[in-house]
Amino acid sequence: MQRTKLVAGNWKMNLLQSTGSALVEAFLQKVELRQDVDVVVCPPYTLLGRLREELRRSHIHLGAQDVFWAEEGAFTGRVSPKMLADLGVSHCIVGHSETRGRFGKLETAENTLGFFAETEETIALKIRALFFHSIEPILCVGETLAERQAGQTEAIIAKQLEGALSGFDAAELFFFVVAYEPVWAIGTGETCATEEAERICEFIRDWFRTKFGDPDLPDHIRILYGGSVKSVNAKELFSQPNIDGGLVGGASLDANEFAKIVASA
Ligand code: PEP
Repeated sequence: MQRTKLVAGNWKMNLLQSTGSALVEAFLQKVELRQDVDVVVCPPYTLLGRLREELRRSHIHLGAQDVFWAEEGAFTGRVSPKMLADLGVSHCIVGHSETRGRFGKLETAENTLGFFAETEETIALKIRALFFHSIEPILCVGETLAERQAGQTEAIIAKQLEGALSGFDAAELFFFVVAYEPVWAIGTGETCATEEAERICEFIRDWFRTKFGDPDLPDHIRILYGGSVKSVNAKELFSQPNIDGGLVGGASLDANEFAKIVASA
């Protein structure tokens, strides 16, 4: 089955009103939007309102980088899916290795990270809350270098999928999006070899087949690769049978690069 490719840009904690708008404007001038590629831009919360206006005239979707699961209430500093829906957000990243507290570069003590790192349970709650507001989650999974070296890659990914999705029915997960993001490849410039990325994305598709027993479900799931995607490697990655696009961090902050990556899809 032909799945629509998806390319999502994760701006992380970067850009201000002026620089964010300039980036979108430059990207819109360069990108050639096509019906067969969905493009999502995920700016920080502070820029969602402004980008909504700027993206209104394009087919580019607005995404958020994280969400809290409650509707409203005494949750200082949190943002609910209801608030995201109100801003026109259609997609939301969940379970990114950085929100799981697995930073590549930041030397922060484990017990400090533990205060704000999310768990499989909070990820499942976020997915349920996003579904309620018809916002499409982009669930990130992936192993650290130590886990890969210990031969635990598949076991870690299966555990992350199980923790996030075991409470759902197959019918709820048609058109679900998963991003395979090896933690060691995020922001490091080190990309997972194409055959290996394809192998793990196929493993993820097979997990859906085995877990839900619905023969149609795996063909509908979109599986992205993320981890130092650039214009030079995007085409090869996106042409693999089980890789349906990319989640792009650093390169999405460069209008030229991001437009070329979208073109590769
Ligand atoms: C990411 O943050 O999801 C990511 C893949 O980052 P980068 O492309 O910079 O490795």
